Amino acid sequence: MSQAMELSGVVIGVDVGGTKTHAASFDEHFNVISDLKVSTLTGGVDQVGTGIINTIATLQSEGQQLKGVGIGLPGIVDGSAGSVRHAFNLGIGDDALDIVSRLNATLRAPCWIANDVDAAALGVYEILRRDDCGLRDLAYLNIGTGVGAGVILDGRIYRGQNGFAGEIGHLLADPDGPQCACGLQGCLEAVASGPALARQWLASGRHSSVEALFAAVGRGDDKATLILRRAVEHLTRAIHTLALTFDIDRIVIGGGVADVGTSLLMGALRRGLRRLQSRSPYTRALNLADRIMLKPPEPVGVIGAAALTRWSRSE
Ligand SMILES: [Zn+2]
Repeated sequence: MSQAMELSGVVIGVDVGGTKTHAASFDEHFNVISDLKVSTLTGGVDQVGTGIINTIATLQSEGQQLKGVGIGLPGIVDGSAGSVRHAFNLGIGDDALDIVSRLNATLRAPCWIANDVDAAALGVYEILRRDDCGLRDLAYLNIGTGVGAGVILDGRIYRGQNGFAGEIGHLLADPDGPQCACGLQGCLEAVASGPALARQWLASGRHSSVEALFAAVGRGDDKATLILRRAVEHLTRAIHTLALTFDIDRIVIGGGVADVGTSLLMGALRRGLRRLQSRSPYTRALNLADRIMLKPPEPVGVIGAAALTRWSRSE
């Protein structure tokens, strides 16, 4: 790795999840040098901040010059202030975690942060660009504990004025649907996220988990199939909305629900999109069924977090 008398430059990416944190250091060619998975310290700004600082310190080693750190984490991220709030599963509410200023006090390297889904979208972009250097735009649709999309336009994360761009989990899917954590009723997240699917399967009197739901769909269970079909109808409309809003090249599907139900979910989404396309030549021209794809297998969260350092430097 390092040559005598010359420090090798590394960047570190940190993907902070509700239960696990994945961090990795990369060389200047973006090859992984070392990586680390630890339990996320949660319970408030001090715990989360300390956990991130300790994780970065563990990855650093003698003979390496740290060129930059990128962090993806849940919640409402203010990239310019370097802070995050409303990351409820980390125990962060109205009081912001000023993670960049905390890191600046301990590190001699610049640091950038982004929402975790935005960072994952950038990671997807980095990976797909290896085989398709003409790729400019994509949306990464995360279907997991929450539902949201990270949007890459012309090679850059599009956050919007206040960081809400792509937060399609709060599209109003069903006005009579269940309460959403945001306070509205019937949001996409309240009807099609992992917890929403598990809750509906529980309401049917069965064991409550997304894994059990997909297993039942695989066995041909009518009730499970109906729950999945309803969720897919909502997700199909959301994909249609994303495509019409941004006309992106690719819509990449990932997240915990996609990890569990991979082929069943992708098959159902493609059938739903083809049904939509069959009703109108205009919609057929969008070619949505062929523009969705499953997330690449690489750890896009940590790759995208590290890529924030390169992306931000070129601004
Ligand atoms: Zn909502």
